[in-house]
Amino acid sequence: KARGKGQYQAFVAEMDSDFRYRQRLKSDLALAIAQDELKLFYQPLVDLGTRRVAGCEALARWTHPELGPIPPDVFIGLAEETGQISAITRWVLRTATAECVNWPKSVSVAVNVSARDLRGEDLAMHVSEALEASGLAPGRLEIEVTETALIEDREGAAAKLELLAANGIGIALDDFGTGYSSLSYLHGMAFSKLKIDRSFIAGITTSERSLKLMANVARLGRDLDLVLVAEGVETEDQLEAIASHTTIDQVQGFLFGRPMPADETRELIASMNQADARPRGAKARRP
Ligand code: C2E
Ligand code: MG
Ligand code: MG
Ligand code: MG
Repeated sequence: KARGKGQYQAFVAEMDSDFRYRQRLKSDLALAIAQDELKLFYQPLVDLGTRRVAGCEALARWTHPELGPIPPDVFIGLAEETGQISAITRWVLRTATAECVNWPKSVSVAVNVSARDLRGEDLAMHVSEALEASGLAPGRLEIEVTETALIEDREGAAAKLELLAANGIGIALDDFGTGYSSLSYLHGMAFSKLKIDRSFIAGITTSERSLKLMANVARLGRDLDLVLVAEGVETEDQLEAIASHTTIDQVQGFLFGRPMPADETRELIASMNQADARPRGAKARRP
């Protein structure tokens, strides 16, 4: 009994310190943008057929001056609670589009938006502001949304995405297959790309069922005219399995590069996309 009470007190103390930690992060986040603590990293999406970089996903990084690196899964969630996400998304859009204009014209940039961005009224304005400031063609910007971000106000979100798509901006359904009722989101939403979650890739070299699942999800996406991305490709064997058994168009993962700073991204694109890089048709696509 005494031990039970001790455990309970430890639990309360932990809850309390977790609460205080989150409160601290929330208030410090307000200054993070102004004090230049946020950075954008980029991770390449590689075309399977040409082995060239087709685009890069912008991923936010926050290094807290005292607490060190805070994962985006943590601070993006907090920013959603406080409403600061709108300012962060605006900054990400501005920074990512300004960087993308330095890349070859065939390379696009993808920006993640959250549920709250899709509920509010700022997103379309921030997108057009970023495109105008950078001079980037709308066709080189892609917006990534997860299924969970669409749950709350599905109609409203669909209308906002539709408007962006009508202006030539690509819309990707991120982490596909992990949310609630994934397939239902493929109705009536303006998606141009499906990013199949890395949990589907993890088992494809060891499990026949995983490979079949992946191949059939890809087939479905292909029938719906979506560009297909496999997320979380970490090994050559996974790449080989994807290339020979599925209709995946692009791969993203540690195999081709971890998220990296802008200057390294430029170098990577320059070296992978040079004219004498691997010839087209390297991919064995099944009929
Ligand atoms: P996401 O959009 O699905 O981004 C992909 C995540 O998978 C990234 O984590 C990336 O580092 C990780 N990843 C990529 N390749 C591999 C791989 O081969 N293996 C493994 N194990 N992981 C891989 P990260 O950067 O920690 O971001 C986590 C999530 O935080 C993102 O998931 C996204 O939902 C969110 N996020 C990041 N930046 C932003 C942002 O600027 N705005 C919003 N709204 N959300 C963001
Ligand atoms: Mg994403
Ligand atoms: Mg993802
Ligand atoms: Mg994710």
